[in-house]
Amino acid sequence: MTSQNRIPLAGVIGRPVAHSKSPRIFRHWLTHFGVKGHYIPMDVAEQDLETVIHALPRLGFVGVNVTIPHKEHVLEIADLVSDQAALTGSANTLVFRDDGTVHADSTDGHGFMENLRSNAPDWDPGQGPAAILGAGGAARAVVASLLNAGAEEIRLSNRTRARSEILRKEFGAKVRIHDWNEAGDMLKGARTVVNATSLGMVGHGRLQVPLRDLSGDAVVTDLVYAPLETEFLAQARRIGCQTVDGLGMLLFQAAPGFERWFGIAPHVDDQLRQAVLS
Ligand code: NAP
Repeated sequence: MTSQNRIPLAGVIGRPVAHSKSPRIFRHWLTHFGVKGHYIPMDVAEQDLETVIHALPRLGFVGVNVTIPHKEHVLEIADLVSDQAALTGSANTLVFRDDGTVHADSTDGHGFMENLRSNAPDWDPGQGPAAILGAGGAARAVVASLLNAGAEEIRLSNRTRARSEILRKEFGAKVRIHDWNEAGDMLKGARTVVNATSLGMVGHGRLQVPLRDLSGDAVVTDLVYAPLETEFLAQARRIGCQTVDGLGMLLFQAAPGFERWFGIAPHVDDQLRQAVLS
């Protein structure tokens, strides 16, 4: 069989992977566009990652999404790493090229920005300080995309201060660090506020940063999307802030992979949201 008449396959690699919402997103688009393709969740152990990635193109895979815990390790396996993936230190989208090379990209920053642009159309990242809680992989993508979009000041607070120090060193003086036990102070005057920790997610601890200094004109978003409205977002909404949930980021970060693998630029709309939530 030639590559032209093969049914294209894509999927998501992680461990565990059963909880991933990506199959629902991709199956919705495949059905919607009538594409003859499949999207398969694959539970892969760390020690098998490289062998699996090199075997997949021979089985008809055109690319895969990568999730926890493999997002950093794939950078060492890929032949080419995009600027965005290098900047974020991880990749969530691999493209298997016809010449046999593996290209790694990170679309989390794209998903973050598109989610805010689409759900808070008047939001302007350059308008005032951004305050970010967390300094893990997702926070790194958020910092990179905000700076790229013109943010002048990024206030960062993380439980483990050393991790925020690394981001400051990499991204420069526009990043200002606040101690975790004083994280509430950095909300004063902030126009963009982001929870990029895993706190607030079902089964995780509560985010207990005081919101007394949060002003009603801030746009507040949470990368956690289970529950859809976190306690943090509910509190911010009561203060009068415009709030944007994290599900949109998940949907938007998937779109570039679909386009590269199946050749159609998909849209993120309410139908897709409902398909993923049902
Ligand atoms: P990560 O690299 O493991 O980072 C986790 C972050 O949460 C770190 O800042 C960590 O602080 C903090 N944290 C965890 N437990 C904490 C606690 N008990 N107290 C204070 N801080 C705590 O994970 P990640 O990839 O950045 O993901 C972060 C969150 O974003 C996750 O909930 C993930 O599901 C979500 N996410 C959503 C999307 C989306 O599309 N919506 C995309 C990517 C990620 P320390 O450094 O001190 O451990």
